[in-house]
Amino acid sequence: MKHITIIGGGLGGLTAGALLSKDGFSVTLLEQHNIIGGCATTFQRKGGFTCEVGLHEMDGVFTNPNIIKIFDKLDVYKNVEFKKPQEFFKVHTKYGEFVMPNGLENGKNVLKEKFVNERDAIDEYFRIVVSISNCFLRLSNLKWHQYLLFPFIFYPIIKYKNKTVSEVLNNLTQNEELKLILNANVQYYNDTSDTLSFLLHAVAQSSYYQGGGHFIKGGSYKLSEYLGSIIKNNGGEVITKAMVFEATKNSVTYTYKNEKITKSTDIIISNISPYDTYKLFDISYNEVKQIANSITTIYFGFNQNLKSIYGQNGYSNFIFTDEKPFVFVDYSQIDSGLTGSDKSFGSICFCDELSNWDKLDEAEYRQKKEQLLESYLCKLNSYYPNIKQYIEFSEVSTPKTIAHYIKTPNGTAYGYKPTQKQFFKIPKVKSHKIDNLYFVGQFVIAGGFSPSLMSGLICYENIVKEYK
Ligand SMILES: Cc1cc2nc3c(=O)[nH]c(=O)nc-3n(C[C@H](O)[C@H](O)[C@H](O)COP(=O)(O)OP(=O)(O)OC[C@H]3O[C@@H](n4cnc5c(N)ncnc54)[C@H](O)[C@@H]3O)c2cc1C
Repeated sequence: MKHITIIGGGLGGLTAGALLSKDGFSVTLLEQHNIIGGCATTFQRKGGFTCEVGLHEMDGVFTNPNIIKIFDKLDVYKNVEFKKPQEFFKVHTKYGEFVMPNGLENGKNVLKEKFVNERDAIDEYFRIVVSISNCFLRLSNLKWHQYLLFPFIFYPIIKYKNKTVSEVLNNLTQNEELKLILNANVQYYNDTSDTLSFLLHAVAQSSYYQGGGHFIKGGSYKLSEYLGSIIKNNGGEVITKAMVFEATKNSVTYTYKNEKITKSTDIIISNISPYDTYKLFDISYNEVKQIANSITTIYFGFNQNLKSIYGQNGYSNFIFTDEKPFVFVDYSQIDSGLTGSDKSFGSICFCDELSNWDKLDEAEYRQKKEQLLESYLCKLNSYYPNIKQYIEFSEVSTPKTIAHYIKTPNGTAYGYKPTQKQFFKIPKVKSHKIDNLYFVGQFVIAGGFSPSLMSGLICYENIVKEYK
């Protein structure tokens, strides 16, 4: 039986590990942190708060054929509970509020009712987005002879390959409010729609419209924990606090409890960036792609259930009234399982850069975090009057926090910057430098829960094809 070592226990590594161990491979997963999951995890705070590190909404849970394939194979639907917010998202702009409903036709109709003069543009927008998304789904099941017909079958991909979101939207409409709404929720991927790939926008939006977004009841660690349990139940090992610092074609060396351990292996899967991976092998690698931005998050524990105070409201609230847009996720709007019913949890999140934080000394860093908290609380207070009085705890996580805990370059959670130049390359799961090395995670397809899970599936299928 082939032995596989996985470096890193994020969603990509866990998915590949769970699928391979269920298929009879002997799997060892090494995670440097004291908990698996990478960005897909939770932490606990006094007062009964389970704090969700990142997940607002995952797309494709019940609609993406590749996610369904993974979840069916691993019995995820029976073991992890998914909760769908009532609406897709809510936006606050200088023009007012808008609620985007779940469902493609619903979204289209509500937009056409609001923007009566833009009906053709809205129809055309949805037509393009769906045609691109359908192409990507076909691409993942491409047969060799279809490559010959690529220009015909995949014409929408070719047409929009080099286009940014701004370019396409500007071509469709001059209505600034409509443009803002159409791209509102994709703001984590890139700080500006002027350099955001329209292909990525189309794939993500189409998936969210068609299937809605879902939260994982109890927090995203439930999914990570379940995937880890599959590896263990099938005879594999999941070792936390195991920092890999060296690798050769047939061995991986890590520190564990102050010991240096070398494990021999037949296959290596890396859930970390290609740059950091080749450093382990002492192989030079010139990273030509730009890394995506990072994220700052402010976590709030509320001593009340916000829904009981402010009523039925938006779950994902995108706020664009400032020069820097942000999202407030109000987990009280769903049965999140993060707190008891008398309390609730929420978070503010926005794009940021590691370079804004990593040059500060400790005192400056602390002070900047405090100022940030205060300024965002004021902003929040204008949408949720008196919200300050319900805060039991608050905590700021910066790009430096992500870089510290997850060890990604630039503290990113979204792999390579999804610009029109960088997005859409056929996923590189297999290394071109080392024949038994594979990649999974945010640097393969794109960042996000579903792309990271799918990278695990592609990796699994490649290994099964080659070694079984
Ligand atoms: C605040 C925030 C909000 C988000 N919101 C959403 C959302 O709403 N929807 C969505 O779809 N996605 C969201 N994401 C993105 C999503 O969480 C990530 O893209 C995805 O989880 C990345 O998975 P991954 O497989 O790349 O693993 P990663 O999460 O990158 O994990 C890699 C793992 O490798 C480990 N590691 C690193 N170096 C070593 C080493 N040398 N040895 C051993 N282990 C090592 C790390 O500790 C880590 O556990 C969000 C992320 C954040 C941070």
